[in-house]
Amino acid sequence: MNLTIHHSASEIGGNCIEIESGVHRLILDIGQPLDKEGETAREKKLPATLDISKPVDGLIISHPHLDHFGLLSQVPQDWHVWSGKATENIIRFNCEYSNQPLVREFRNFENKKPFIVGQFTVTPFLTDHSAFDAYMFLVEAEGKKLFYSGDFRMTGRKKYLVENIISRPHENIDALIIEGTNLGREDKKKYWDEERIEQEFINLIDSTKGRVFVTCSGQNIDRLVSIYKAAKKSGIPFIIDTYTAKVLSIVNKHCSSIPTADREEIKMLVSSRLHVKFDKMGDLVFIDNICDENKALSVKRLNIRKGKSVILIRDSMVSDFQKNGFHLSPDDAWCWSMWSDYQKKDSSRQITEWFASAGIKPQSIHTSGHASRSELHQLCDSINAAKNIIIHSDADDSIRREFKNPIIAINGETINI
Ligand SMILES: [Zn+2]
Ligand SMILES: [Zn+2]
Repeated sequence: MNLTIHHSASEIGGNCIEIESGVHRLILDIGQPLDKEGETAREKKLPATLDISKPVDGLIISHPHLDHFGLLSQVPQDWHVWSGKATENIIRFNCEYSNQPLVREFRNFENKKPFIVGQFTVTPFLTDHSAFDAYMFLVEAEGKKLFYSGDFRMTGRKKYLVENIISRPHENIDALIIEGTNLGREDKKKYWDEERIEQEFINLIDSTKGRVFVTCSGQNIDRLVSIYKAAKKSGIPFIIDTYTAKVLSIVNKHCSSIPTADREEIKMLVSSRLHVKFDKMGDLVFIDNICDENKALSVKRLNIRKGKSVILIRDSMVSDFQKNGFHLSPDDAWCWSMWSDYQKKDSSRQITEWFASAGIKPQSIHTSGHASRSELHQLCDSINAAKNIIIHSDADDSIRREFKNPIIAINGETINI
């Protein structure tokens, strides 16, 4: 069995891994590379070493983050694409939302149910990550076993899934491909769990006289649940934008405990930009179904609304707020609930300046979507593979060599397993 990391051997994101057994080929993830600021790179180009002229038995997508599926439109139509059903639905919505509808069939796997792709038997294991429906995989062929961690963490609401894998590890693994995002960033991090995040939001709501604005990813379901619970426990409404409401409704079909915009404690902000967007997608019915007088708020109505609330806001929404003369008060708070480096990007300048103009400084309540160094070692030690290959990381080789049986992969170079 041969393994080639086409991309992500020495950088974070843009995963593209090939496993070869005779003439059979399996691809794990087809991610869009990230630039230095953690944004997806503008250029959508497959790794030069990935041969798309020869057949591939299957392409498996581990989770619906662009750095794992973003180059999907570039691969041949006859490659069979596999993912979890929720992952497929989230990817489809995101492609439509960015005006690039996906014309491709998916095959779906289910947690812990092995499936056959050509020569390979693949078993998916649901994991804990900041993306919903994320998986690790056991891949077997020629009597060899390879384990791929995908992206994972141990601080989310599904941390028990990773704890289970660590306490009952698969045996006789020939190679472990493990993500190492935080290996190069370790010293800056706090590893709060989502319960602590929820409590921090409760504290922020308590100590704020006005409204609490929160900037977070509309796809980080664990975080949205933490904020929702904090608002609910504080007895104030959680006001979400239409994009986030749609993502929650997609995810709720796979996990009914995920709150959606029709819950009493949630209100939906329909900005004019998102109204136009949903109209273009032919999905105004989503807004119409949720909307009633008290449920749906325009920016103008939100502006005159009295009382405390938690309001989601992202940089793309600020123009709408400004155009509609929305007034911030110095009593309001603003919380940045994403990786802190994202706030340094040019695209975050408008939101930062807008809050600064009202004398509001950003506060941070966040925890990483990826495992800490000690958690990475825990997984590595328990699986005890003959070869450990750290990818999705910009850490120095010396840090990689602290792991047992390390193999330092180079993009495009083949490793025999
Ligand atoms: Zn990733
Ligand atoms: Zn991810």
